[in-house]
Amino acid sequence: MSKVIEIKSINQHQKNDVLEVVYEIGVNDSSFLLEYQISGSWEGEIAAYCDSPIVSFLYDALLNGYDFKSEYPISEKLYYNLTKHFIPHMCAMNHLQPIHIDAPLSNKKFTGKWVGTGISCGVDSMATLKEYTTEDVADDYKLTHLLYFKIGAHHGGHAQPVPEELENRIFRDELQVVKSFCKKYSYPLIIVDSNINTLSNQMWGTHDFFEVFEYRNSAVMLMMQNHFSKYYHATGYATFMGFVMDIHKGLEHNEWWSLPLFSSDNLAVIPANMAMTRIEKTKYISDFEPSYNHLMVCWNGKKNCGVCPKCIRTQVALDWLGGLQKYNKVFDLEKYYQGKSYYLRQIVDQRKTDQFYCELYEYASENGIKLPPPSNFFRDTFYKLKSLCYRMTLGQLRR
Ligand SMILES: [Zn+2]
Repeated sequence: MSKVIEIKSINQHQKNDVLEVVYEIGVNDSSFLLEYQISGSWEGEIAAYCDSPIVSFLYDALLNGYDFKSEYPISEKLYYNLTKHFIPHMCAMNHLQPIHIDAPLSNKKFTGKWVGTGISCGVDSMATLKEYTTEDVADDYKLTHLLYFKIGAHHGGHAQPVPEELENRIFRDELQVVKSFCKKYSYPLIIVDSNINTLSNQMWGTHDFFEVFEYRNSAVMLMMQNHFSKYYHATGYATFMGFVMDIHKGLEHNEWWSLPLFSSDNLAVIPANMAMTRIEKTKYISDFEPSYNHLMVCWNGKKNCGVCPKCIRTQVALDWLGGLQKYNKVFDLEKYYQGKSYYLRQIVDQRKTDQFYCELYEYASENGIKLPPPSNFFRDTFYKLKSLCYRMTLGQLRR
């Protein structure tokens, strides 16, 4: 008997200022409720399509060989994107059995004109904000709304399953930063809370967030496709550098190919940030005034800790680019300069395992920036000298 994920019902109701959306999902003999609460600058209802839950669970369906079934329609464009491109290529490259989608097609056009991107106040989202608010882009491409989702990103570096209390605490803390940023710069903000991370852990077992976040982000946007025409996804890596199709590594190394395939007849999912590397993005935002007092790169919550890999790489890049002083409200610069030699050594030591540290290491080499030797340099040198002495002694004995 084939395995099926069935979208059994889609319900929504307004409760005060919050729209609650509940997808009932049938898997084998069990039913699960995938819930979203949409608040902030949202108006009206969502369209009752199965696009969103299908993309939400596509990763697990592919890995576990589940087909999808729904009496609710799927957007025609998304259907063909998935069944003619995404699914065949992912299956072929990962030696998986093809899966099928059984749902009526719809090419209905909604009138939504909103253009959105996620806002975490990190480097990628600030770069996207600058790109589509200050550059000369057509009106239809200008950002109109910022979005903030709880879909598993608030792990704080904790391994999955993340305790719900921790996830909720980080979500609330970061939301305060995001809200104050949107208030100051008058950006409409839509907040989407969800149980998808907890639910997915129950249904499929735990996943690291990087394995699933692109599916979940796009799925939330597809839920709101009756209002949004475009969604800019801030990219993590530059262009096709290190292009990877291993499904277990998530989509961040192939997002220039995969993300547009989550587009529907109404919503275009667009990778943002052009072809910029992380250092180029840091440079790009360093003359973007809204970032100065609000840049938040840390996993830790509402305040940059200054010592985690994300904080280190951002401070070092800004320091080398000559812009760190502008960020003295969001980083403790005295603490940074005290620990700087240790941070630089971390970059040298971890350059082979951390792509962003590798990028900084190469930038330093190309720009004549002096870096310390690796931590094991002295130990290695000691053993090399000892070995040399030993070999020389042996050579003398033989003579
Ligand atoms: Zn940090």
